[in-house]
Amino acid sequence: MNKHWRYGSCGGHGRSAEDAAGAAGRPVKAASFEYHAPETAGEALSLLAEFGDEAKVLAGGQSLVPVLALRLARFEHLVDLNRIPALRYVQAANGVTRVGAMTTHAAIGRSAEIRRLVPLLAEATPHIGHFQIRNRGTIGGSLSHADPGAEYPAVALALDAGIVLASARGTRTVAAAEFFTGTFTTTAEPDEVLTEIRFTGRPHGCAVLELARRHGDFALAGVACAVELDAAERVESLRLALFGVASTPVRAAAAEQAARGAAAGELDPAEVGRAALAGISCVSDLHADASYRERVAAYLAGQAVRQALQQALQEARNG
Ligand code: FAD
Repeated sequence: MNKHWRYGSCGGHGRSAEDAAGAAGRPVKAASFEYHAPETAGEALSLLAEFGDEAKVLAGGQSLVPVLALRLARFEHLVDLNRIPALRYVQAANGVTRVGAMTTHAAIGRSAEIRRLVPLLAEATPHIGHFQIRNRGTIGGSLSHADPGAEYPAVALALDAGIVLASARGTRTVAAAEFFTGTFTTTAEPDEVLTEIRFTGRPHGCAVLELARRHGDFALAGVACAVELDAAERVESLRLALFGVASTPVRAAAAEQAARGAAAGELDPAEVGRAALAGISCVSDLHADASYRERVAAYLAGQAVRQALQQALQEARNG
């Protein structure tokens, strides 16, 4: 059953702290909003259908709550997904690994199934913030928030993940390549909830490398790499997604293409790294300029390819 109550803000918007506390019992820094706590995905979808773009989904709150507290955005209704246990799971069957949107970064980091079947996701997890953030933050929140410096969007892109979006109108699956459209923007509509992420296949070697000013900061540049080899130890697929360099994560398509079919033992990872930036325009901002990002990303790409190839060759030889 959906529970809801109103949170009032502490002064500044025509409501005194006493009024606010009286209305909700809990004054908060954000502008006032109606809080909804549905217990099923169906209830959440009905609320979003009812309130449209006046409503916002709340998951781990690690990105949304600061935005609200700083009043960078305000919404009349918050629809909290935390009381919907059916959105927290890791399930594997028929070569597909499904991860529920409300699965936390910490749960992903602990999952033996993820480590075995989607090791790139496991590799990415320790790079995300600090353990407090990983305890609350969710994979659905990370993908929906679409921070260009975030790790999971790059992993989803590298692995051609399917992103399941549900609304009262129905359910659709969007390829990760079509999902991220810009900084903090995706193809999801305001009435849609990201419910599940689907991964297929299992790479033989993978690596996630990034450069951040301090551990836990968003990456200035980063790389997620996954390699599959055929029985003759040739590169069947090399997937390379860069993050932190542009407004969305980007695949290094030219380098991927050039590596396909090459003998894994003869491929020069540094050369692949240099080729990885072909056709990609890096951004400049107050943290780093484009040419710095280009050099860092090319170096990290080379190192990530080296690690992923070594792992893949080891697996091929030792099983
Ligand atoms: P929320 O903050 O609850 O929501 C974020 C956005 O996504 C909101 O717009 C919300 O409406 C929407 N949303 C959430 N879930 C859904 C859903 N299921 N369907 C539709 N829309 C949804 N992240 C990194 O990747 N790498 C880092 O290094 C990193 N460092 C961090 C450091 C700090 C100090 C902090 C505070 C955060 C950091 N994060 C980092 C962000 C963290 O990973 C967040 O968990 C993540 O970005 C958002 O997930 P969330 O579950 O907290 O979502």
